[in-house]
Amino acid sequence: MTMNTQGRPTSPAHIDGPDIPQTVSGSKGLLQAEPLIFETERWNATGVDLPEPKGTGHRLGGLGRKQKVGLPGLSEPEAMRHYVRLSQKNYAIDLGLFPLGSCTMKHNPRLNEKIARLAGFADIHPMQPQATVQGALELIDELASWLKTLTGMPAVAMSPKAGAHGELCGMLAIRKALEMRGELSRRTRVLVPASAHGTNPATAAQCGFVVDEIKAGPDGRVNMESLREKLAVTDDVAGIMLTNPNTCGLFERDIREIADLIHEAGGYFYCDGANFNAIVGRVRPGDLGVDAMHINLHKTFSTPHGGGGPGSGPTVLSEALAPYAPVPFVVCDEDGVYQLIEEDRRAAEQTMGRMVAFHGQMGMFVRALTYMLSHGADGLKQVAEDAVLNANYIQARLKSVMSPAFDGYCMHEALFSDAFLDETGVETIDIAKALIDEGYHPMTMYFPLVVHGAMLIEPTETESRAELDRFCDALEAIAKRAAAGDEVLKGAPYLAPMRRLDETRAARKPVLKWTAPEPAMAAE
Ligand SMILES: *Cc1c(COP(=O)(O)O)cnc(C)c1O
Repeated sequence: MTMNTQGRPTSPAHIDGPDIPQTVSGSKGLLQAEPLIFETERWNATGVDLPEPKGTGHRLGGLGRKQKVGLPGLSEPEAMRHYVRLSQKNYAIDLGLFPLGSCTMKHNPRLNEKIARLAGFADIHPMQPQATVQGALELIDELASWLKTLTGMPAVAMSPKAGAHGELCGMLAIRKALEMRGELSRRTRVLVPASAHGTNPATAAQCGFVVDEIKAGPDGRVNMESLREKLAVTDDVAGIMLTNPNTCGLFERDIREIADLIHEAGGYFYCDGANFNAIVGRVRPGDLGVDAMHINLHKTFSTPHGGGGPGSGPTVLSEALAPYAPVPFVVCDEDGVYQLIEEDRRAAEQTMGRMVAFHGQMGMFVRALTYMLSHGADGLKQVAEDAVLNANYIQARLKSVMSPAFDGYCMHEALFSDAFLDETGVETIDIAKALIDEGYHPMTMYFPLVVHGAMLIEPTETESRAELDRFCDALEAIAKRAAAGDEVLKGAPYLAPMRRLDETRAARKPVLKWTAPEPAMAAE
């Protein structure tokens, strides 16, 4: 049996024991075992039957391929089965509750998909004359005005293609504003709380700032004393990057004061808006003194995410930063004609240029606006309320068997520490792996870093009470076994296609390309 570096089995799952049959095929139940497509080694087969091309060789200037293409050959049904079998190994929001905290894995309504497939949205091309895509431009403009209204901010850059990309947009706007004030060389420091998502310090560093960590208080929020001290001794602060509600799932109660302190110190307030789902329709970041904030359409506004995208991270900007927004943006003239402004009419030194080749993620814009229109403004408020209610339901159901990281109610996600695992020999990762056996994707683990052995659970508003109970029943049972020091948990997962993979080695030495195994040595 192959083992990972922690000495746990990685080989395909089976449960040892006389009563558990092992299958010849490696398949289990109705789930088919499936090798990598290259491992099928059918190099000579083909799913199509084309005649040899004639007379093309001389047109390639001698650059025709000499080696074999190296693509495995599958018939159409074999190709279909390969991908369907792989898809069955995926966990999906359409399959069950996806408890990943900080990710807002909510149901993607089918209506959004239907509207995004309308030919007028799906079949247009970014190079088309603008007169022929007036409806699409109007949609971008309407989504922009919803985002401005919901956030209480005067401007929005629609083109950033993910949350992290929106952070880059906002921080570049802050950088530009400081440059225009002639203070960029002096203001080098960006304050980032210890609980921040990793993208925050990465963005600040990428924009050339020095990252300065602010400590969290015992209540999981920004420690105001340490913030005040920091601002008292330095005059080189460019701004702060703060998530609200923060990654501990808590509302930063002192946020107005934080904004005032930063502004008095001459800096700007970047708010990481990834957790907007918890407050949409209830709180307007513009009223809190925010200068820039990205919104993850793929979190709050239900556009699909996972597996690398496509995301969309429109970034709202305050009066002070709006002049430095990137191109392109949509404007509407008095005659109701929409125009995508692609060329920057500002002086070269005033602009950050553009962030993407075209206008952003059109398909996500359509889905997000569909979601907004189907909820209406009052419905969006209820989204936030139900998301917070669901997270608190989970916290309340599990708080007697697990250890809530902080006292009191949470916002949209419930955070637990590993205190209840003290002296049991069981760790956070064992709980996460045991959840896989129960049919659930693990929660976010070991994040935020400020909580020991963190387990962060975000159910979102789209789960019913019945599904929340089903999930809590499973996690409660695991937590009880863990508290009793059940060694069996250390070997989980037992029922997944693969056992405990070597995640350390996968991260340190990723194998990103398949290479043919060395041919076996001929027997002597
Ligand atoms: C998701 C998330 C981000 C990054 O968003 P992406 O779209 O994944 O780039 C940033 N900050 C927080 C708090 C997040 O949850």
